[in-house]
Amino acid sequence: MTCSSIASGTLARVITHGVAVRYGSREVIVGGGAPVVVQSMTNTHTADIAATAQQIAELARAGSELVRITVNTPEAAVAVPAIRQELDRMGVDVPLIGDFHYNGHLLLQAYPGCAQALSKYRINPGNVGQGARRDTQFAQMVEVAVRYDKPVRIGVNWGSLDQDLLARIMDENAQRAEPWDAQRVMYEALITSAIDSAKLAESLGMAANKIILSCKVSGVQDLIAVYRELSRRCNYALHLGLTEAGMGSKGIVASTAAMAVLLQEGIGDTIRVSLTPEPGGSRTKEVIVAQEILQTMGLRKFMPMVTSCPGCGRTTSTVFQELADRIQTYLQNQMPEWKKAYPGVENLTVAVMGCIVNGPGESKHANIGISLPGTGETNAAPVYVDGQRGVILRGERIAEEFQAIVLEYVKKNYGSKSAAA
Ligand code: SF4
Repeated sequence: MTCSSIASGTLARVITHGVAVRYGSREVIVGGGAPVVVQSMTNTHTADIAATAQQIAELARAGSELVRITVNTPEAAVAVPAIRQELDRMGVDVPLIGDFHYNGHLLLQAYPGCAQALSKYRINPGNVGQGARRDTQFAQMVEVAVRYDKPVRIGVNWGSLDQDLLARIMDENAQRAEPWDAQRVMYEALITSAIDSAKLAESLGMAANKIILSCKVSGVQDLIAVYRELSRRCNYALHLGLTEAGMGSKGIVASTAAMAVLLQEGIGDTIRVSLTPEPGGSRTKEVIVAQEILQTMGLRKFMPMVTSCPGCGRTTSTVFQELADRIQTYLQNQMPEWKKAYPGVENLTVAVMGCIVNGPGESKHANIGISLPGTGETNAAPVYVDGQRGVILRGERIAEEFQAIVLEYVKKNYGSKSAAA
């Protein structure tokens, strides 16, 4: 294989209708070729205004561009405009999405303040009512969305699939000369539910560029198969996510495995990583993981990238692990301020390496790199800046001195709109 035959790795996107989700002067575009949007969901009681506003603010500050909240009771619906006001007071303008099931038609009609304060409604066609009431109640929700000029996500989930629709598709399948297997029938039911509901919404006066679709399942191969087919059959903007992904590394790996394949094929306009939080863990983890998926795939840039080696028998101390962790944490903590003060700082690359085997080489590829001494090596840590060897750090304060070098580099190379330490 010659170099000229190697693909460049540039990702082509499947172009869908662009959906504008607005709050005040803030506008987030989902689809239409816009950068893939990161979103998240709270897990507080929505009726607890202070706790919910606080968590929304944390998610937004971590980089969530849309935040969804459960609206399941009259108390929650009453709380929504108060949460919005509290966020205004905190200077947080992230658009809010209301997640409705079962009683959404009633809540949206009875609480206009809630309907107005939300920037988008999520409707689950499997949970809007049974039989004849289903279409009526779905229409009531769409009517409110049209009246307030709000986009909707028609979000199908295989845990709450429209049972009438599933029964109809199973009946149709039974008439086939060669019936499909149960898995294919399930896929078809999910996709049909989403697209038929979107068409119904359009027939009720909702524009195609106000509709986002999702078909969430919890299996990686199922998600890939369903979204490939969904993307082939419609041009609606697509919300991507593996539902009930799980906890810890399992949830992260499963979400990444499923979404990376689809994103690589250009499928998906907004993503959510549905992680079960660790006890006492931060809800913002799902935002960080979503950003890391997009950044490591080269689809977006959110924060400086730290490259660090895994360590091996050549470096038996934890010094370089601690330095890599410290630098990563430092960069994350600085980013809210740095983004404003130093435009383009998200392009910074930093290498933290455990010894001289690959250290200098990797350091030269980064804007700033450091190779810590491996076992038996001279107690010296050479620093490289833009490929050139610079100072050599020694002693107990290597971490502090390296951090200062990073800050100096940022100030010098990304301009300064205001001082930020
Ligand atoms: S850079 Fe050195 S310490 Fe790190 S993995 Fe490679 S050989 Fe091991």
